[in-house]
Amino acid sequence: MSDKRNDEEQKELNSVEIEDTEEEDEYESFCYLCRRPESQTGKLIHLPNNINICPECMQKTFDGLNTGSIQFMDFNNFDMDAMKVFDEVPKAQKLKKKKKKQEKVEELDLKSLPAPHKIKEQLDEYVIGQEHAKKVISVAVYNHYKRVATKTMDDIEIDKSNMLMIGPTGCGKTYLVKTLARLLNVPLAITDATALTEAGYIGDDVESVLSKLLAAADNDVERAERGIVFIDEIDKIAKKRNTNSRDVSGESVQQGMLKLLEGAEVEVPVGATSKNAMVPLTTINTKNILFICGGAFPELDKIIKNRLNTQASIGFKADLKDKYDDRDDLLDEVTIEDLREFGMIPEFIGRLPVIFSLSPLKKESLIKILKEPKNAILKQYEKLLELDEVKLQFDDSALEAIAEKALERKTGARALRAIIEEFMLDIMYEIPKDDNIGTVTITGDYINKKGAPIITVRQ
Ligand code: ADP
Repeated sequence: MSDKRNDEEQKELNSVEIEDTEEEDEYESFCYLCRRPESQTGKLIHLPNNINICPECMQKTFDGLNTGSIQFMDFNNFDMDAMKVFDEVPKAQKLKKKKKKQEKVEELDLKSLPAPHKIKEQLDEYVIGQEHAKKVISVAVYNHYKRVATKTMDDIEIDKSNMLMIGPTGCGKTYLVKTLARLLNVPLAITDATALTEAGYIGDDVESVLSKLLAAADNDVERAERGIVFIDEIDKIAKKRNTNSRDVSGESVQQGMLKLLEGAEVEVPVGATSKNAMVPLTTINTKNILFICGGAFPELDKIIKNRLNTQASIGFKADLKDKYDDRDDLLDEVTIEDLREFGMIPEFIGRLPVIFSLSPLKKESLIKILKEPKNAILKQYEKLLELDEVKLQFDDSALEAIAEKALERKTGARALRAIIEEFMLDIMYEIPKDDNIGTVTITGDYINKKGAPIITVRQ
């Protein structure tokens, strides 16, 4: 009733366009004092100038007046213009109203949830190699969402399928998670663990990852509660060794993340990464949120090698000491003990039950990445030149040369785009000059700056 009246008053007061108001209606009002949204506080009391107060704060104010701890306002000298600031809360900081039950459409249900082999098939279209990682992630994600869809997260006493991915930079960790979130149509937040610090210190609190997820879900709490959070560079929050000062960005961040990983009700600022007086808050339950952590874990292979060597040199099974020296799949042998030695605290690793590694990309994989995925870089350039009616081709020697150059840079597949962009700049600049060009073939010599591309003229 009062809602309706407020709407009408509002329209009369500032004859806002109807479209605007309709859009506004999708967002929840929040209490001007405690910043909580109406869905949590109960019906808000509307005051003039768009100020809403929840019953609890109103009661506290009255109590304060009675005990004399709040001074009466001097309404004669009150600056009404100052209150305009409350009209100006940016949309990014408002919560969308929860949809009514019958309006709910795209709830993840068991029937629409693809089986693990289907998920992997779809991943195959984008991510090259990393067969083991794709298999593990497909199964883990399937199990997770199966429990979310059937609402059995509480009944079955098994751990959440939070994951830890170990692999060198540029091998596809982020790409794998991004592709997965897109296929499943769930919101995804990607953050960097290096930006996080213990609450109260400069940097983002751990809860900020949930703010990002909420933003990715369009401020829709229900959608956010089924999303995926990817925390990159997780190895950077390992316990610092030999330090006497307080470790606010390492061990403390791991401690802070424990409750998020496990499932808890967390108060999250809407539209900002830190809580402050002007930001509305909402509560997000992390029980159904899937957390995936990724990191390169440099030197972890040495820890694994040491362990394996010690094991091998004891007792009757004593083995050659350098047996593990040149194995490049050592990361597959990782155990919780190794990660602890690296500096991750046991409680933290315990909440990431699915641990797997991705291997560094070899030359053949890099060549495949250039041409095979659905959105392969070469396909993108071919399409671009097709718009100028020019056919772009890469011969095999060109692909090899690009892959070799990328290997030298040691940043995995990330180097590919940078290398291609370097030489494509000239091509993209020169081609549109001449209308007669029909085909351009890029060769290995051109990539290695020993020759020019082969150009044929339109018939
Ligand atoms: P990181 O492992 O450091 O998170 P990314 O996932 O960000 O690396 O990879 C960088 C880019 O390289 C991606 O955007 C993607 O285009 C490409 N890429 C990396 N690995 C693969 C892969 N296995 N298959 C296809 N593309 C890949």
